[in-house]
Amino acid sequence: MKTITLPGGETVAALGQGTWYVGDDPARRADEIEALNRGIDLGMNVIDTAEMYGNGRSESRVGEAIAGRRDEVFLVSKVLPGNASRKGTIAACEASLDRLGTDRIDLYLLHWRGGVPLHETISAFETLLRAGKIRNWGVSNFDVQDMEELLSVPGGEKVAVNQVLYNLSRRGIEWDLLDWCADRNIPVMAYSPVEQARLLRHPGLRELAVRLGLAPAQLALAWVLRRRNVMAIPKAASFAHVNDNAAAADLTLDDETLRTLDRMFAPPSRSTPLEIL
Ligand code: NDP
Repeated sequence: MKTITLPGGETVAALGQGTWYVGDDPARRADEIEALNRGIDLGMNVIDTAEMYGNGRSESRVGEAIAGRRDEVFLVSKVLPGNASRKGTIAACEASLDRLGTDRIDLYLLHWRGGVPLHETISAFETLLRAGKIRNWGVSNFDVQDMEELLSVPGGEKVAVNQVLYNLSRRGIEWDLLDWCADRNIPVMAYSPVEQARLLRHPGLRELAVRLGLAPAQLALAWVLRRRNVMAIPKAASFAHVNDNAAAADLTLDDETLRTLDRMFAPPSRSTPLEIL
């Protein structure tokens, strides 16, 4: 499994698992728990959730899934911007810990930028770090300007990742943000790496995948993981999809395949604002 080294020196799997909408449907409970556990068995032990997802239902389902094997998992959750004040962040984190059934979150992210000054959120993150309630903190949906501002705030240089939208059909960050982060050794965590399954219906991608003997999701994920500072967190709530995705972490796409994909999904030719889902 390809790995990524966080700025603090810790090494984590480059391919993890998303959980948006997980926990929303009680009828899917067993499948979701089985899929997450299968993913952990296959090395996709970075699990991404957020207090926002299903108003905490995703965190609760993740907590159920990882009960008994917490130490095998690198757990990521997020605070909503409206909660990201000095006191609010701490209360939100404690509620997340409760739902997750654990005493620590491995990586705690500000979900996106809101009205609370960054120094307040960082100060709360520092308090949580000192208390051992989180082990790293980072941000999500931060464009270059936001990152520059973050690094200008005392403590901001401790940012461990920036989680952003990135897949074959959303290549805007290749213009600037990807290199900006790589130059500073800040990993980028790609969310919606298969564009919420829409990408998997693209006829050209499907045809190329068949030619290469791959599932479309494997091709799309291997492409995202081709960069050394990029990790990805596809959400897959079925055993079969998890099996497909795990195999993508060991694939290396050759230059001809990368050129074919560039013709189908053009790289950016100008700067564009960071896209968000
Ligand atoms: P993804 O791009 O991961 O797509 C998920 C969809 O793709 C699901 O419908 C899933 O189906 C399907 N899928 C996954 N693998 C396969 C496969 N091998 N074959 C066929 N279909 C497949 O979208 P998400 O938006 O869920 O993004 C991933 C995660 O990123 C989220 O779950 C969340 O944790 C995080 N996220 C963060 C955001 C942020 O603002 N920070 C915003 C959006 C997402 P099925 O479930 O049936 O397996």
